[in-house]
Amino acid sequence: MTDVERLQRELYALTEVAKTLTLPLELPELLNAVVQKIIGVIEPAEAGAVMLWDQDSGLFRPSAGFGYNLEVLSELGLRAGESVTGKVFDAGKVCLFHTPDQVANAMEDMRPSNRAVMARALGSEALPCCTLAAPISVGEHKLGVLILETIRGPAMFSNGDMPFLQTIADLIALAIDRDRLATQADAIRAERRAERLRSEVLATLSHELRMPLTAIQGFSSALLLDEVDWSNDKRQEFLRMIEQECNNMQSMLTDILDSSMIEVDQLIMERQPVRIPFIAHQVAEEVQRRTDAHHIIVDFPATFPILEADPRWIKQVFRNILDNAVKYSSQGGLIVIRGELRPNDVVVVIADQGIGISPEDLIPLFERYFRVRSPTNLQIPGTGLGLPIARAIVEAHGGRIWAESKLSEGTSIYFSLPKMLEI
Ligand code: ADP
Repeated sequence: MTDVERLQRELYALTEVAKTLTLPLELPELLNAVVQKIIGVIEPAEAGAVMLWDQDSGLFRPSAGFGYNLEVLSELGLRAGESVTGKVFDAGKVCLFHTPDQVANAMEDMRPSNRAVMARALGSEALPCCTLAAPISVGEHKLGVLILETIRGPAMFSNGDMPFLQTIADLIALAIDRDRLATQADAIRAERRAERLRSEVLATLSHELRMPLTAIQGFSSALLLDEVDWSNDKRQEFLRMIEQECNNMQSMLTDILDSSMIEVDQLIMERQPVRIPFIAHQVAEEVQRRTDAHHIIVDFPATFPILEADPRWIKQVFRNILDNAVKYSSQGGLIVIRGELRPNDVVVVIADQGIGISPEDLIPLFERYFRVRSPTNLQIPGTGLGLPIARAIVEAHGGRIWAESKLSEGTSIYFSLPKMLEI
């Protein structure tokens, strides 16, 4: 190959590498794509690897390569100073080990376990006959080594290959540094989101909890008044109100905590066989105990399947929807929980005869913090988190949630769960 041909090839390869670096790939894929471009330009290269220093394990580990069995090579872990990688890293400059003797000399201190991995990864006990390696670093920060090897020869690397290999190693260093900066930026963004969430949660918490707290304070101060001798009935009534407001606070706190867990992707599912009708009955009884004005009916077909789901979260879905059915039908009435079977999924509907929701308010119904802004609604305590939580849980199970409603007639909230969860 003439010098001009060689320069042309190198220029072409560098353009290709630069193009590859703009691809939206994960770092290991990106490095693999880059090292592939070296073959064909540095012709004697039969194998090559990017060895990166891993601070946690205190070892150089391969993160890309060609010519090796990469699965086997991934077992390689070189200590500081060990073998060619360790020496070139310490030297901080591109090195060429011309002869088999020079290579053997540089590899002399390679531990037997690593030697065995190399032999398996190359499919041969023979040591490379010529090795070319360049440090990968950004400024003073050393990251690893790019190493090329000829195994059988006869073609060998030449001094002319050294600048090209160092340029490729520098491009690899930039890609690694860019990846590191992107990870840092992601972490900062996540931290900012979490901070925003914390202040949102605090604002909602203090605003929404003020109403029940004020009521509790009012009723208990009244009960404590020395100058009033409350009748037994009145005292009972006040205590019931206090209990009711405590329940409201508890359910709001649960919503706020659940919602913040979902926001930071902490909706951890522990699936197990679940009888949905059983959960429906449990929650219905729980809610019925708190109201005399409503009559709750549970109606599931006997053939309703057992599903693989997380009972704690499914219970929370029922609670949130059923709490609303009671809250938003202050006049009382019938609440029906019904289960239906469809070919591919099951559907649960919770229907009330309450104040209903207008068509325009149905659209944002499942969005965080959305609350219908009507004078009646604003009197009813809530966080605007119950339905978004229910949606996150249902969707995490692979289902869907939706609503139908007519103002002054009532609301039906539906959710489906795929039968794939059936066991
Ligand atoms: P909240 O804590 O405010 O009840 P949700 O997310 O559970 O929050 O509900 C959002 C809003 O949707 C409520 O504020 C209410 O305006 C409306 N809503 C939900 N369920 C019903 C229902 N069954 N009947 C009428 N309005 C409802």
